[in-house]
Amino acid sequence: MNYLSDRINLLAESETLAMTRRSRELREQGFDVINLSIGEPDFDTPFHVKEAAKEAIDQNYSHYTPVPGYPELRQAIANKLKRDNGLDYKAEQIVVSTGAKQSLANAILCLVNPGDEVLIPAPYWVSYKEIIKLAGAKGVFIEGGIHADFKVTPEQIETAITPETKLFIFSSPCNPSGTVYTFEELKAFSEVFARHPHVFVISDEIYENINFIGLHHSIASFGNIKERVIIINGLSKGFAMTGWRLGYMAASKEIAAACDKLQGQITSGACSITQRAAIVAMNTDPAESDDIKRMVDAFRYRRDLAISLLREIPGVKINVPDGAFYLFPDVTAYFGKSFGDRVIFSGSDLCDYILDTVYVAIVPGAAFGSPDCIRISYATSEDTLREAISRISEAFSKLK
Ligand code: PMP
Ligand code: GLU
Repeated sequence: MNYLSDRINLLAESETLAMTRRSRELREQGFDVINLSIGEPDFDTPFHVKEAAKEAIDQNYSHYTPVPGYPELRQAIANKLKRDNGLDYKAEQIVVSTGAKQSLANAILCLVNPGDEVLIPAPYWVSYKEIIKLAGAKGVFIEGGIHADFKVTPEQIETAITPETKLFIFSSPCNPSGTVYTFEELKAFSEVFARHPHVFVISDEIYENINFIGLHHSIASFGNIKERVIIINGLSKGFAMTGWRLGYMAASKEIAAACDKLQGQITSGACSITQRAAIVAMNTDPAESDDIKRMVDAFRYRRDLAISLLREIPGVKINVPDGAFYLFPDVTAYFGKSFGDRVIFSGSDLCDYILDTVYVAIVPGAAFGSPDCIRISYATSEDTLREAISRISEAFSKLK
């Protein structure tokens, strides 16, 4: 008899983390695995941020922090939102959490009731769908295919809105497609939401700094809907701080207070040392930071390299993403092909085949709601990337 709750039995394991776990296990068994499945910068955390954490330890920042974060950190985040995004938020509208993942979970759990509909453009980041499931709500997916640069249109959004729609969740720059919505596109979205005042918007901006086309725009810039927008962001990607676990949200005072209450019963807040370091990170202007510039330049170079190498594989369709550090090629040309008695029916079969035969870990697009594609993270060194794509290419060439 299964004694675990229905809640956990219904929840799927994060496929990004599952692929990373599988590649770690294979590596422990002695296989030479290249992991292109996890989305995390391969850069070190900036020096001045690390120094701030060391000082915080020495200064005994070892006690519980206020649940929504140290006041100085919440103020530094409000200042960042003004400096980088031109947005006005007060410190009390900011809640600091253990990663953007927790900020997302807080916001979803505080907003949706069982049975509510949550609109999500596909491809979407893996965890949205599962957190929504935990909340008992229903995911409604709208497709933005590769032909549309993986973007959805305002018309698609408006058609999908029903009286039951409570939330719209998207990321820009997007994980997994790298797509970046322009100011005009976001404005058109905001006009749709202005016509439907029962719909809230979660804008996941965690890849804000990894943008190859210039200025980042937030849908919270549009005053007519700002009260209903919840910005999610964090230090994992922009400051290469995945393991430090710090994310934050900016929202109306009421939503921020609700998330504060929820987090007070679940985690008591983010790590004190990480928060002290985060004050220094948030006071760093990305436009002035050599660390961030160096990282973004490296990602842009690797993106172009990986695209040129992947384009040599016949049949693989690929778009040029404007941000994040993923490629999301369409591999349908290989469905129905086989190697020996191994037939490829889907992107998942293809990822298993590539991992088993050439030891490169990538994630099936189905995990992100787009089964025609696979996700390749290029957040790794140039040599590793060349070797991985050469192996992937060899695996594809054997499929007949
Ligand atoms: N949103 C997106 C789109 C992501 O790719 C990630 C990556 N983990 C997260 C949220 C969560 O980030 P964090 O490490 O801050 O929990
Ligand atoms: N966001 C990253 C990814 O998509 C990290 C893994 C995770 O948190 O799921 O790979």
